[in-house]
Amino acid sequence: VVVLGIETSCDDTAAAVVRSDGEILSQVVSSQADLLAKYGGVAPKMAEEAHSKVIDQVVQEALDKAYLTEKDLTAVAVTIGPGLSLCLRVGVQKARKIAGGFNLPIIGIHHMEAHALVARLIEKDLQFPFMALLISGGHNLLVLARDLGQYIQLGTTIDDAIGEAYDKTAKWLGLDLRRSGGPAIEKLAMEGNAESVKFSIPMKQHKDCNFSYAGLKTQVRLAIESKKIDAKIPISSASNGDRLSRADIAASFQRIAVLHLEERCERAIQWALKMEPSIRHLVVSGGVASNQYVRARLDMVVKKNGLQLVCPPPRLCTDNVVIGFQPGPTFSGEIFTSRTPYALFVNLIRRRLGICFSTAR
Ligand code: ATP
Ligand code: FE
Repeated sequence: VVVLGIETSCDDTAAAVVRSDGEILSQVVSSQADLLAKYGGVAPKMAEEAHSKVIDQVVQEALDKAYLTEKDLTAVAVTIGPGLSLCLRVGVQKARKIAGGFNLPIIGIHHMEAHALVARLIEKDLQFPFMALLISGGHNLLVLARDLGQYIQLGTTIDDAIGEAYDKTAKWLGLDLRRSGGPAIEKLAMEGNAESVKFSIPMKQHKDCNFSYAGLKTQVRLAIESKKIDAKIPISSASNGDRLSRADIAASFQRIAVLHLEERCERAIQWALKMEPSIRHLVVSGGVASNQYVRARLDMVVKKNGLQLVCPPPRLCTDNVVIGFQPGPTFSGEIFTSRTPYALFVNLIRRRLGICFSTAR
């Protein structure tokens, strides 16, 4: 079984070819980092145009690198949500075109489910039930995965996701945004004192597993204003003192942002073990999971609670299409054909989101 995966839910256009034994035959990502740096965020219409421009080439390259043609494929998998609908459409249309031409089934993939399940490619020991913490630019989710397609949401963000907080902090600190903000903050934080700026941990008084990063973002913005840091002066031109005070903010922000994760994870593990005592793993995935500090801190929490941390390597944490594939004979995605009308896809996205993440307490 060989599956072509296509992913266009946000700002990256990606394609990969994966075999059923979990072997990744190729992986191609075209990022819109230049657009991001220029506009400081993703503008759906522009992102859609960028996807349309490169999608054919990205898919072709993925096939070439795998030394395969469309004829060799068993199915096409494509992200059907959540994401920007204009962007998702580009991927879905490409999938339908290929599937139509070669009479292949289309497997509709839930983007966040894929972020969680990609861990199964690297940790062959990972069995259901397990827990997953998904931390990315648009999501903060704590999930109990009972089986393929069976997820119980333990917590989600009530406003911004942690990646968004990293990205804004980086922007306000005048960091180089040609890459995303997260890695820039991680690096700068190493130079700073994480105890120097006092930020408070979000939602301390709420004894649940939800997240909130909007308030921390505001705290960071106020600290930056009070230290008179000028984002228009790039960090590379900042004086030594200025650079240090930026590093202090980066380190202090990161410490609190991650403490919030730690606290929520600890509670979620306790909740989840009550429902499923056989859980052994917590998977941490999504772009922010490539952060070494995040990994180290969560590893401590997970071990302390008797579980094991599974963290895919960074290239599988951020958006990629390998995530669109689940090894094993069962796919959890919906199966379509190229003749499925687009409107039905959209409906299925909505329905599937409902099915996938039923809220529990
Ligand atoms: P979603 O998956 O929710 O749709 P997304 O696709 O934008 O969102 P990803 O591609 O999974 O998210 O991850 C991108 C996010 O990860 C960005 O916010 C980025 O700043 C963050 N990120 C990447 N590397 C790091 C790092 N080393 N430290 C912190 N954050 C990071
Ligand atoms: Fe993602």
